[in-house]
Amino acid sequence: MPDTLERLRAILAEVTDLNRATAVLAWDQETYMPPGGVQNRAEQFSTLSEVAHRRFTSEEVGRLLDEAEGANAKLDFDSDEASLIRVTRRDYDQARKLPSELVAEIAHASSTARPHWQKARHESNFGLFAPYLEKNVELNRRVADALGFEKRPYDALLNRTEPGLTTDELEAIFDELKTAIVPLVADISRRAEAVDDSVLRRGFDPDQQLSYALETVTKLGYDLERGRQDISTHPFSIAFGPGDVRITTRVNRDFFNECLFGSIHEAGHGMYFQGIGRNLDRTNLWDGASPGVHESQSRLWENLVGRSLPFWNHLFSSLQRTFPEPLKGVDAEAFYRAVNKSYPSYIRVEADEVTYNLHVLLRFELENDMLEGRLKVRDLPEAWNETFKSYFGLDVPNDREGVLQDIHWSFVGFAEFPGYTLGNIIGAQLMEKIRSEMTDLDHQIERGEFGNLLGWLQNNVYRHGRKFTPNELLERATGRPLTPKPWIAYVRRKYGALYGLHPASD
Ligand code: ZN
Repeated sequence: MPDTLERLRAILAEVTDLNRATAVLAWDQETYMPPGGVQNRAEQFSTLSEVAHRRFTSEEVGRLLDEAEGANAKLDFDSDEASLIRVTRRDYDQARKLPSELVAEIAHASSTARPHWQKARHESNFGLFAPYLEKNVELNRRVADALGFEKRPYDALLNRTEPGLTTDELEAIFDELKTAIVPLVADISRRAEAVDDSVLRRGFDPDQQLSYALETVTKLGYDLERGRQDISTHPFSIAFGPGDVRITTRVNRDFFNECLFGSIHEAGHGMYFQGIGRNLDRTNLWDGASPGVHESQSRLWENLVGRSLPFWNHLFSSLQRTFPEPLKGVDAEAFYRAVNKSYPSYIRVEADEVTYNLHVLLRFELENDMLEGRLKVRDLPEAWNETFKSYFGLDVPNDREGVLQDIHWSFVGFAEFPGYTLGNIIGAQLMEKIRSEMTDLDHQIERGEFGNLLGWLQNNVYRHGRKFTPNELLERATGRPLTPKPWIAYVRRKYGALYGLHPASD
């Protein structure tokens, strides 16, 4: 029944185009739009997304999916056609399950809550935000109820972002991480002086940082024929299709890490987008497999490559030529140590590789407690501070640097935090497999050769787009489902050596 699939593809192409037009508007808002444009832009977003949503959730799409499923029941699971039908069905059913009144209520609640969150954060006064968070918790719960779940409400929300993963499974992974990281963080804190990162604050010319970062991500494989880099307050990457995938970065004269590592991180997302198969273009399959898998690529390039010693053995001499003043008397290894300094801090987005997952774990636990009714919103700051103390050994000084720091709870989007940690562990799991197949990877990186690594990722991850769930993808790429073990082994080895915690095992 080729006509059915053709008709379905035509509708999905329209929906994709509408969503990509929305993405261009979003990019513009974050980069060049004058402040006065906010109101008009909000109207444009709402019009375009409503048209796209209506088109996608139409009866016609449901009918075409029914027909396509009947006619294509025998197709190979991994084929483009079977995947297109399977994934579009999942998206369609989820979109149809949310009543339009609830969708409208969520949009309204989010836009109402945001300025109150901003004010509360600015004044470090949780009470100003509490009533809006209460509303958002209730709406998250209603979303979970509308989508349906067997065991726990968080399952419904998680299934939207990381399909196939349950809350119980995630809890088990987080427990394993917690057992490994909490003592490691304490060990590192005791030996804090072993790593000196003062070189990063010696003043680096911002324009030179920007061009150096762009040059570096181009070397890694980010294609400027189909991309560009601009500046924004919060770095992000965004795709308008295979031919146009953009990244942004920020720059700080007095802290070197922000620009270069921010750029590498976003270029990791960008290379993922640039590598998705063109055969999947303008369908629901043309995107990353999940936020967690997407984040695995930003983290893999940023940390597993960009914060490795072989990488700095390759890059440092050119960095020193570009910034001779601040880097006088510094060598590659000292610089490698500096960019890897780990210390417990209050703010998630500034956290290093080791402590980062604890920030996510904290949020995951509290979201679940609120969603399942064990924690009242009014008691949230206290719960936050207590848990924070037990993980990091620090007293949270105020709500601004504590419970109010992230924008996420100002809109109705629980279950977004786990993706950050999943990214770390998926990245390490892929890297373990890559190393087993490419035993000279470190030498390649030392020579500035990134093509084989990129090629492996394109072949095993990028080209598949959204065809597979995270676990389906991991099983195909690494031969086993999601496991935190490679990441735990990686941080223990790396930070054990950096901080002299135990004799380095390799
Ligand atoms: Zn990211």
